[in-house]
Amino acid sequence: MSYKVLVTDYAWPTLDIERRVLSKVGAELVVPKEGSQDELAALAPDVDAILVNWNGCTAKVIAAAKKCLVITRYGVGVDNIDTPAATERGIIVTNVPDYCMDEVSNEAMAMLLAGARRLFLYNTSIRSKTWAVKAGMPFPRVTGLTLGIIGFGRIGKTVAPKAQAFGLKVLVYDPYIPQKDITDRGCVPATFETLLKESDFVTLHVPLTPETSSIINEKAIRLMKPSAWLINTSRGPVVDTKALYKVMKEGHLAGAGLDVLPQEPPSWDDPIFTLPNIIFTPHSAFYSEGSLAELLEKAATRVVEALSGQVPANVINTGVLKQANLRLKKK
Ligand code: NAD
Repeated sequence: MSYKVLVTDYAWPTLDIERRVLSKVGAELVVPKEGSQDELAALAPDVDAILVNWNGCTAKVIAAAKKCLVITRYGVGVDNIDTPAATERGIIVTNVPDYCMDEVSNEAMAMLLAGARRLFLYNTSIRSKTWAVKAGMPFPRVTGLTLGIIGFGRIGKTVAPKAQAFGLKVLVYDPYIPQKDITDRGCVPATFETLLKESDFVTLHVPLTPETSSIINEKAIRLMKPSAWLINTSRGPVVDTKALYKVMKEGHLAGAGLDVLPQEPPSWDDPIFTLPNIIFTPHSAFYSEGSLAELLEKAATRVVEALSGQVPANVINTGVLKQANLRLKKK
């Protein structure tokens, strides 16, 4: 009997890496035609594992996946997987937490520098045949400015030394880690309000949770300096983009860099796209050829581990393991 692994969706040209890795346990891939939750639920009863990219893996799909052992997120955030529903059914949820810290931290720094040096503005003005340094003036020297990092996990911690190398002072707000983790890296712990008030750039590196959803709302944006930049490479709903549009339209904030949006792909009539001082990228911060290959290899390896009867690495819902272990052993 060969195992079947459902891939809910993917954003890369082929599934060759996954096929190669999964062939170690004789598993074959099941690929949906359009990936609606109805289609996934119809395919789910036959599968032993599910690989999830950006599509949702809802309670409906999970309820139909009667013999599924493991659901693996291609990536860090598991906010698109109904983990409580998986836990209830004894299904292990895993992720790949460590494949793109460099890429995402570089993206945050690239947005910071493109904003600080007004690259977006000069690029646009030259394309409209204006060769004028003063088109971007005035703007401050980067050295000596302050970066506020909200969320000091793997990616936040990778941003800090890169910012320090450019002469930025780094403030950190993360109430869930010891202050020593912050001070040992030459950064300064701050409250949420102080960080917003004192930073020239604010970069977001929190997971999407009920607590962080819209953590950057109108009140928070108004606490920021009118000359500050907001950078979001975490998850779209962390920023209330309607509030961001409203406040930026009034001229508050020098600009923003957004790799993620509350709805992806977005609705193109959203007025946020009319603001010239926002740099957008299409949730591409995770990507480089190297990080993508590492992601696919690691995600498929999590499935191979579970299908070979081992506890896979990076289990999110560790509480499920006792229940799942019995099923892993039976395999
Ligand atoms: P991580 O789990 O290593 O770190 C998250 C940190 O946020 C933790 O230290 C945690 O204590 C902190 N945190 C949680 N709630 C908080 C709150 N309310 N206020 C302040 N801090 C809080 O995660 P990571 O690997 O650093 O990833 C960070 C974010 O980046 C996640 O949202 C992830 O989904 C996203 N991400 C995006 C891309 C992309 O392509 N844009 C790629 C990878 C990761």
